[in-house]
Amino acid sequence: MREFEVVIRNPTGLHARPAKVLVNTAKQFDSDIHVMHGQKKANAKSLISLLTLGAERGAQIRVTADGDDEEQAINSLKDAIRGGLGEEMPDDGSQRDGRSPAQSTGSEPAAATTPKADDVVEEAKDAPADGLIEGIAAAPGLAIGPLFVLQAQSIEVDDAPFAGVDAEQERLRQAREEARAQLRQVQQQIAAQAPKEAAIFDVHRELVDDPDLIQDVEERIAQGQNAPRAWQQAVNARAEAVAALSDPMLAERATDLRDVGRRVLQLLTGAAGARLPDDRVIVVAGDLTPSDTALLSGRNVLGFCTAAGGPTAHAAIIARALRLPAVVGAGPGVLSLTPGATAILDGNAGTLTVDPPEEALAQARAKQAAWQAQLEAALVASDEPAVTRDGHRVEVAANIGGVKDAHAAATSGAEAVGLLRTEFLFLGRTTAPSEAEQEQVYGEIVEAMGGRPVIIRTLDIGGDKPLPYVQVPEEANPFLGERGIRLCLARPALLRRQVRAILRAARSGPVRIMFPMVATVDEWRQARAIVQEERRALVTSDDGGGVPQVELGIMIEIPSAALLADRFAPEVDFFSVGTNDLTQYTLAMDRMHPTLSAQSDGLHPAVLRLIKQTVSSAHDHGKWVGVCGELAADPQAAPILIGLGVDELSVSVPAVASLKAQIRTLALADARALAQQALDCDNAGEVRALSTTAAEPEHN
Ligand code: PEP
Ligand code: MG
Repeated sequence: MREFEVVIRNPTGLHARPAKVLVNTAKQFDSDIHVMHGQKKANAKSLISLLTLGAERGAQIRVTADGDDEEQAINSLKDAIRGGLGEEMPDDGSQRDGRSPAQSTGSEPAAATTPKADDVVEEAKDAPADGLIEGIAAAPGLAIGPLFVLQAQSIEVDDAPFAGVDAEQERLRQAREEARAQLRQVQQQIAAQAPKEAAIFDVHRELVDDPDLIQDVEERIAQGQNAPRAWQQAVNARAEAVAALSDPMLAERATDLRDVGRRVLQLLTGAAGARLPDDRVIVVAGDLTPSDTALLSGRNVLGFCTAAGGPTAHAAIIARALRLPAVVGAGPGVLSLTPGATAILDGNAGTLTVDPPEEALAQARAKQAAWQAQLEAALVASDEPAVTRDGHRVEVAANIGGVKDAHAAATSGAEAVGLLRTEFLFLGRTTAPSEAEQEQVYGEIVEAMGGRPVIIRTLDIGGDKPLPYVQVPEEANPFLGERGIRLCLARPALLRRQVRAILRAARSGPVRIMFPMVATVDEWRQARAIVQEERRALVTSDDGGGVPQVELGIMIEIPSAALLADRFAPEVDFFSVGTNDLTQYTLAMDRMHPTLSAQSDGLHPAVLRLIKQTVSSAHDHGKWVGVCGELAADPQAAPILIGLGVDELSVSVPAVASLKAQIRTLALADARALAQQALDCDNAGEVRALSTTAAEPEHN
């Protein structure tokens, strides 16, 4: 037997996602592998068993392996745990001496500072029967409509007869198989909009197959319990153990376990799931499981309000990704609200106003109606080109993250895909997608666009988007480290596989390839060479499908690329400005920083000057420039970008029609004058003051 000790440094301890990576690593070996924390011992191949260890950040654990491949197992597990199990590790030096931060500094363990979602819930007031209810703002937006109170349905298992051990085992096997298929479907439903959040359904699938849980259920069946009862009792016992953990982030995983338990139990008993009415409603619930939240997206749900749940709960994260306004932690009183009562749900303020006074209702309705009217008019004309009043045409494209988005883009008036973020295919899984899978998905997207060009961006990970199966050494500044094209050039096999898949997918329609985070001309040339080599190899081994030419471009999202645009321009086919990153790197302000991000404004004259320089260099060489960062969808920015000479704006699908409508109200001559003034401002505030928004529609 071999073993090692290590301190868990993951910011929120050994929670579901890192634990799942640990399970997957352990499962690659035949040895018996266990993890010890204090007096507790867990099977390392069982996710539930690992979660019930309650290993918070700073916990010292011992890992043992016993079997023929114990040495390889120990080495792999050591690397995986020290590498962060797919998460970024804080640089607190604790790994170097193998002691926890608490031990080495004498201070409190870091876990003591972990934000406690449930504390926030406790602080939220019990809701009054009507009037203003204050909760926690979980996802922005405004909804007005009748309340629908979603009550948890209990599932009866008592009367089910015992059909014999083999029959009950088979029943269980079938229910688990069906549950896995359902989970895959739900995951696909939200993966395009929220790839990171969709990863939770990988965890759910792991729970369906958890070896400790299944062993327990099978033993209960062998003792004469029917499958539903055996499953229910085994799940409940584990959910209680997880819920009792002192770390709230870990304890919250009991919700996932109960969610999975319920899904399988429904399949075992044929019990119906919760039903939503056909009318559009604001859903009120005790708490919502990830599955509930994902299902809500496809229905007539205006928004939701929950009694429990903190802002870190998956339900809140998924709601944000699906753009459903949401308020959480509003207290148990919301469950006794009168079903059907009219309410205003304000996801920005974190309030639910029940039976609002007429004046408040009128104001909220007026705001929504004005927005709706603009949107409807824009949608009617969405297929028309976006031509300014003085005859200048601007291409309006869509930013997409999956096949579903592509279908939506094709019917939204988008003239192209200006940015396909291919990360959606790589995130939320424990191994990289194969070349064949990539080819198929890219091909489906190209086909969905029906002949309109699709810009496929090569993998842009690292920085804020780590992948468990692409190990990046710990970096003090990951945003200035190995990310985007740098990371791919350092792992050419990953890039070459993706390039081959894209080149084959180009048989289905016009495709352009775009490289992210290019800082130097050399990087661009290396990336271009890889495409040329792969293309040549495909032509030589042509299977009869032909290999069409694809245009190649780069993202301008690092100031060096904008400043060298005149060097790139003769060689590339196009540029697309990623204002999200260009702004953060130009102003040296993290785009996610809690206090700085508001100042990190793409309308800063420094950013606008870089865009102008890019456009001038491109146009001098007959090349075109797009903008695919969030700035393109900002109504105050569109006239300025057009005035700077940007040829294409690429925005999220729901923003396409209203951006086109706005462009039709502009005149290029005015836009140019406005852009010139903006370039001469001192700061973004002055630029925004120049641009009056009164007549401009909202794009989102
Ligand atoms: C950008 O940086 O503006 C961009 C579009 O890329 P991402 O947001 O994917 O980093
Ligand atoms: Mg970017």
